[in-house]
Amino acid sequence: MKNYLQKAYAFDGTVRIYAAITTELVKKAQEIHNLWPTSCAALGRCLTIAAIMSCTYKASEHLTIKVCGDGPIGKITLEATDGKVRGFVQNPGVYLSFNNGKLNVGDAVGRSGYIEVIKDLHMRAPFSSTSSLISGEIAEDFTYYFAQSEQIPSSVGLGVLIDPDGKVISSGGFLIQIMPGCKEETIQFLEEHLNQMKPCSDMIQLGYSAEEIIHEITNGDYQLLETKELFYSCPCSKERFRRGLLSLGKQELTSIVQEDHQANITCNFCQKKYTFTEADLVDMIDELSSKKA
Ligand code: ZN
Repeated sequence: MKNYLQKAYAFDGTVRIYAAITTELVKKAQEIHNLWPTSCAALGRCLTIAAIMSCTYKASEHLTIKVCGDGPIGKITLEATDGKVRGFVQNPGVYLSFNNGKLNVGDAVGRSGYIEVIKDLHMRAPFSSTSSLISGEIAEDFTYYFAQSEQIPSSVGLGVLIDPDGKVISSGGFLIQIMPGCKEETIQFLEEHLNQMKPCSDMIQLGYSAEEIIHEITNGDYQLLETKELFYSCPCSKERFRRGLLSLGKQELTSIVQEDHQANITCNFCQKKYTFTEADLVDMIDELSSKKA
């Protein structure tokens, strides 16, 4: 399993931990979107937390996450279901670093703005919640999101390591959630320990497995639960885009036929291109006409 998530309980089941290795998935995103280092680190961190979050909800639940900061990267859009994740950034060409060479994700994403999470169970109206960005560094922003919007005391750690040539070396992260009934001394231990232990980016750099990350967080007091494979996956198809075009309506489609004679659509998530010929478009207009009649 190349990319995977390991779930664990710790401290008598009062703390839930999810640790993920997402190196190949972020490499794939870099290849698809031609991401420069800072855009890549930002999207990689977001893809990692989106993949983790999708494993904390029901398998049928579809997540759409938007990270909207005021930095040069612009809006970051993610979708995730049951370990399958896809995403893109508005501006893939951002390379912003500190004097010490570390990538400056906070300024690239922006330190003011918001995170929006939309959960869709395909049964009732989608549920949406938002929280403010804290630092634009992503991990801290999602820690705040969980506390604010889901009322779950949590801690998020994320790391994407990029080599001097701008290529992804490794990527991963964790989510710690405090369950009801957790002892005060456990919370205190975690608060102190999280400040003292290796930062997530160091663990990723050292090539830790998901289980080693969990070991580091808990000092060995944990029980492993299930392991789940993670993927970068785009389920787009010509049929989906056809439905999108149909929703534009007869008038709009007619003007596309008159002006462009065809429609070329590129999928934002995987950059795959779809062409609808004049004949395709005329068929769609006929379909809409016959529905109305
Ligand atoms: Zn696609």
